[in-house]
Amino acid sequence: MLLRHTTAEVKERSALTINPAKTCQPIGAMYAALGVHNCLPHSHGSQGCCAYHRSALTKHYKEPVMAGSSSFTEGAAVFGGQANLLQAITNMFALYNPDVIAIHTTCLSETIGDDIVQIVAKAREEGKVPPGKYLIHANTPSYIGSHVTGFSNMVKGMVTYLSEATGRRRNQVNIIPGWVEPSDMRELRRLSRAMGINCNIFPDTSDVMDAPQTGRHEFYPRGGAPVAEIRHSGDSRSTLALGPTASEAAALALQEKCEVRSEVLELPIGLLATDRLINAMRHRSGIRVPGFITDERGRLVDMIADMHQYFYRKRVALFGDPDHLVSLAEFLVTLDMRPVYIVTGTPGKRFETRVREALGDSVPEAQIRQGAQADTFLLHQWIKREGVDLLIGNTYGKYIARDEDIPFVRFGFPIIDRVGHSYFPTVGYLGAMRLAERILGVFMDRQDRDAPEEAFELTM
Ligand code: SF4
Repeated sequence: MLLRHTTAEVKERSALTINPAKTCQPIGAMYAALGVHNCLPHSHGSQGCCAYHRSALTKHYKEPVMAGSSSFTEGAAVFGGQANLLQAITNMFALYNPDVIAIHTTCLSETIGDDIVQIVAKAREEGKVPPGKYLIHANTPSYIGSHVTGFSNMVKGMVTYLSEATGRRRNQVNIIPGWVEPSDMRELRRLSRAMGINCNIFPDTSDVMDAPQTGRHEFYPRGGAPVAEIRHSGDSRSTLALGPTASEAAALALQEKCEVRSEVLELPIGLLATDRLINAMRHRSGIRVPGFITDERGRLVDMIADMHQYFYRKRVALFGDPDHLVSLAEFLVTLDMRPVYIVTGTPGKRFETRVREALGDSVPEAQIRQGAQADTFLLHQWIKREGVDLLIGNTYGKYIARDEDIPFVRFGFPIIDRVGHSYFPTVGYLGAMRLAERILGVFMDRQDRDAPEEAFELTM
C-alpha cells in the first residue's frame, strides 16, 4: 500500500498538486527538437535541468539523448545567462556542427527574464552562427504548461524561425504529428504515402528515438525532418495538424506567416479518429482509399466484434495528455466501454468540451478534470469512492493499480518500466488493433488469475 495515505474523501484544493499528471515543459521542447535532422537541443538553464530532461527522455525511449546546457551557476542566476548562451552557441557549432541549435528556456532563465530573441539576434550579429546554420527557440518555463505545451511551443518555434513562402506552391501537405511515438510518426508517413499524399512531416522522431542498432554510435541519427523540408512547409498546399494541444499553434502560425491553409484533427487513435484522418487525406489527394487500408479497417472492426463481450460496459479511469485522452476516450466508447474518470495536468482550452464531444451521450456520469489540481491523487480518490475495471496511463499509474488491484495498461508519457512502446504504433487502424489487444490482454490475465480451478478455461 504505497499510496495508503490517499483518502476517499475529496477536498477541493487550490494551491497543492500531489503526483501531477504531467511533467516539465522543456522535456517536450527537447523531444520536438530531436525530430529535426542534425539538430542539437539546448537547455538554457542549470545543468540539473538539462540532465533531468535528457534522462526523462532516455528512460522512456531507451535511447541516448544529446543536448547542450548553458550551465548556469550563481553568476548567471544573478546577472543573467546571456554570456553563457553566447559561449555555448560558439562551442556547439565548433565542436558538434549541428544544422540547428534549438534553445529552450527553463524556470530559472525565465525567472531571471533572459530575452532569447535578443540573445539570438546578438549571436547572429557577432557572427557566431555559421552560414547555413540556424538557431531557433521556445520559451518553456515549467511553472506553467507541461511537456505537451513545451512540445507545442518548440514546433511553433520551427515555423517562426524556419518556414518561409517563396510564392511557388509545392504539391505537398504538411503533417504536424503531435506528441506521439517515433513509430507513430513512421506509421503516419506510411498512411500518407498510401493515400497519395506527398507529406512533409515535422517534427519526425522516427529513426532518431528508435534508431536501429548498427554497432556504431551516431551523434546525429539518420532520422528527423531535414531543415530544408521545414523551410518548404511555407510552400505546401495545406497543413494537417494532429492533436490541437500539441500541434494547433504551429499550424496557425504557419497559416498566418505563409498562408498555408490548416485543418486541426484529433490524434488518429482509434477507429473513428483514424477514419477522419483517412478522409482528410482522401480529400487532399483525390484518390480512392486503397484496398489494403480498407482491409486494415475491416480487420479492426472484426477484432472489436470478437472482443466486444469482454469490453462491454467496463468502467475505465484515464490520465495523461489531452490529445491522447480525447481520442482514447472516443475509442473506448467505440469498444462499448465507459471512460468514467479522465484527468490531465496539462492546461489548455476546450479539453472538457472535446472529451464530452468524444463521449457523446454514452457516459453522462464521466468526471473530467484539467489543470494543476487534476492530479493522480484526485484520480485515486475518485477510484476509491467508486472503483473501475481498468486504469490507463503512464508508468506512474502502477502505484494506484497495485494498491487498488486494477488491471493496468501503460499508455502515454513517460513509460519507464517497460520496453517496446516506442516501437509499435498506436495511431491508425493497426495501432488501434494493438491497443485493443493490450486492453483485452490485461482483462484475460485478470480472469485467469482470479478464476477458481474448476473455471480456469483454456479458451476464451
Ligand atoms: S521544473 Fe523547472 S527547474 Fe525543474 S527541471 Fe523543469 S525547468 Fe528545471
